[in-house]
Amino acid sequence: MTSAALLDRVGLRVGDLPCAIAETAFPVRVPPHYLGLIRRGDPDDPLLAQVLARGAELLDAPGTLTDPLAEAGFGMGQGILRKYRSRALLLAAGACAIHCRYCFRRHSDYGDTMLPAGAVDDALAAIAAAPEIREVILSGGDPLMLSDTRLAALLPAIAALPQVTNIRIHTRMPTTVPARVTPALCALLAGLGTPVVIVLHTNHAQELDGVVAAALADLRAAGVHLLNQSVLLRGINDTPPVAAAHARRLFACGVLPYYTHLLDPVAGAAHFDVPLAEARALEAALRADLPGYLVPRFVREVPGADSKTPIWALD
Ligand code: SF4
Repeated sequence: MTSAALLDRVGLRVGDLPCAIAETAFPVRVPPHYLGLIRRGDPDDPLLAQVLARGAELLDAPGTLTDPLAEAGFGMGQGILRKYRSRALLLAAGACAIHCRYCFRRHSDYGDTMLPAGAVDDALAAIAAAPEIREVILSGGDPLMLSDTRLAALLPAIAALPQVTNIRIHTRMPTTVPARVTPALCALLAGLGTPVVIVLHTNHAQELDGVVAAALADLRAAGVHLLNQSVLLRGINDTPPVAAAHARRLFACGVLPYYTHLLDPVAGAAHFDVPLAEARALEAALRADLPGYLVPRFVREVPGADSKTPIWALD
């Protein structure tokens, strides 16, 4: 889909926006359910802003990079990253159902970095040889883009690794394509015998409609622990009322807020950036308004650090 076609689908014209649109090498992609959640005729819609390619993406912003987290330096083998001592990340899929304009992997060549089906055994052998790895995280792309057949081969093999105590899946699929949460997927997750954590990615309460809530209820009924991570985005979720409403809606859907990430300095997304001082003020406002368990940890990923860095520890 082009940016112009997306605008047309939500009842807008280019002249309705306060900015230009763009067509870039990272194409616009919006699944039908998510498209239906965008308010027609609203140029400021917070969901539209996450998926519409704006002219600002083409600007050369100082300090931005194509691999802002230096992931190329953390490979354990093709398709495996080890950023932290006790966790390994499998880049299980090379595609997503939605293209988030601020994605830190928007410049990734998944053909070179993702885990090919034929390399799964080698990847699991590498993890088995590192007994301090206790958790395997499926990432991508979006790992729920894999078919149930692929998942039914991969997940039990991970669960069978003796040192793995839990499996984590990072995905936007349950909230952007809720139909992906099928009875077969739930049965697969429920039958693994190893606890499964799904870390969703939503940024605004508007993404959590009744259809999504029902899909999340199915995952919970399958015994899955649900957490959410967000990216702090200029004009989308950077005010206390919006962020607090998001946290409350997550809880109503059985999801705990986990992380709010400061934007990674990825080329093409600088217009989403929220300065550190504003992030700190937002976190403080949420602490004053919400119970502690609904306040996400505000963090930045610093390449080479032992863990995510809380924003109070940043310079
Ligand atoms: S779903 Fe995740 S990996 Fe895919 S474009 Fe969005 S942020 Fe990036």
